[in-house]
Amino acid sequence: MKTDGNIPYKIYLEESELPKQWYNVRADMKNKPAPLLNPATLKPMTAEDLKPVFCDELIRQELDDTTAYFDIPDDIRNFYKMYRPAPLVRAYCLEEKLDTPAKIYYKFEGNNTSGSHKLNSAIAQAYYAKMQGLKGVTTETGAGQWGTALSMACAYFGLDCKVYMVKVSYEQKPFRREVMRTYGASVTPSPSETTEVGRKILAEHPGTTGSLGCAISEAVETAVKTDGYRYVLGSVLSQVLLHQSVIGLETKAALDKYGIKPDIIIGCAGGGSNLGGLISPFMGEKLRGEADYRFIAVEPASCPSLTRGRYAYDFCDTGMVCPLAKMYTLGSNFIPSANHAGGLRYHGMSSVLSQLYDDGLMEAVSVGQTSVFEAAEEFARVEGILPAPESSHAIRVAIDEAMKCKETGEEKTIVFGLTGTGYFDMVAYEKFHDGKMVDYIPTDEELEASFARLPKVE
Ligand SMILES: *Cc1c(COP(=O)(O)O)cnc(C)c1O
Repeated sequence: MKTDGNIPYKIYLEESELPKQWYNVRADMKNKPAPLLNPATLKPMTAEDLKPVFCDELIRQELDDTTAYFDIPDDIRNFYKMYRPAPLVRAYCLEEKLDTPAKIYYKFEGNNTSGSHKLNSAIAQAYYAKMQGLKGVTTETGAGQWGTALSMACAYFGLDCKVYMVKVSYEQKPFRREVMRTYGASVTPSPSETTEVGRKILAEHPGTTGSLGCAISEAVETAVKTDGYRYVLGSVLSQVLLHQSVIGLETKAALDKYGIKPDIIIGCAGGGSNLGGLISPFMGEKLRGEADYRFIAVEPASCPSLTRGRYAYDFCDTGMVCPLAKMYTLGSNFIPSANHAGGLRYHGMSSVLSQLYDDGLMEAVSVGQTSVFEAAEEFARVEGILPAPESSHAIRVAIDEAMKCKETGEEKTIVFGLTGTGYFDMVAYEKFHDGKMVDYIPTDEELEASFARLPKVE
């Protein structure tokens, strides 16, 4: 079996090495991400504007572009200790299978019941809601990982949790729903008759299978109208990237232990939270001129916000109740093809990552879903872990980069984020195995039609 000096299969950190602070990459960005705008006045959202929707401390984190480090409260760190520090794995078996001189590492975030990195931010958001004395929170979930993570976090702090689950997932993933109910959440398929915006969307699009943008609108409306509730979001927002920086900080600490310097850091990108969290400390070094890395965001060809989207102000939701964010977007009306099975379906991208991408500090590639599942299977067969389809986008490009090294003979060090496990995604795997998976890629005309409906801001 292949080995490399003294580098073990898994690099574990001690509990005492769990980060004590989150890192806010915005502090080191010369070009700050554009501010959220109030949709009524088109002026930057103030803390006061955001108060009915979000928890006070989370608003403070959202609006802070200058503080580099935020202390992680003890209650959150203690919860983290149940499943962190997460291992950094040297993919020796994959390297051997590919016969590549590249050195491949992955940071595995699937070691908790939610099966993804989303618990890192869920526990933080639930904590601040509890500290504020709130009764509960509302949210949306697509594939179900965020809803599960938030249900777990709310159960821990004794908060009520109302989840709007995209209808197609609600129907295709009944077991996800039951996990959430096990942790005490109430789960409503979206769009629903329980909100004004849901009723409006149902009237306009009868029979719609829903979208994340729609579920967000319903969750926000319910939070604003219910006393003692606020809305929480599992990706896209800058506060979520802040919490997810724990991934990158641990990764960097593990690499530093063995003096390893990565050349390429790869992550899948839905709303950008795991990628943003993974790259933050490394991007900080790049921004400060201390080191250089290649960063690659990987997105589905069927929902290509960075590679084919517009960098513009857009609504974060379909019902247009949320603030406007400047981001790479396909338009808030964009709904990926119903046969897209690989997750990462959000129409926009974190405004932090959008700005970094626009400044040329990060690359992006899009990949077809059949090739993503091929990579998933190849990985599962040698590394043992059954990867989530989302995570497999990163696996795809890590393998592609490792194969380029095989051609050139370069011994590059590649690090990628393995965000979670795919146990609830077997319907998608089944489609792939049965040869029924199709690669639906939106046409330029479809995207243009969606761009034409972007709000006119600048
Ligand atoms: C939600 C999710 C993603 C994508 O979300 P980001 O905010 O872009 O990180 C990726 N992988 C898994 C397993 C997820 O659950």
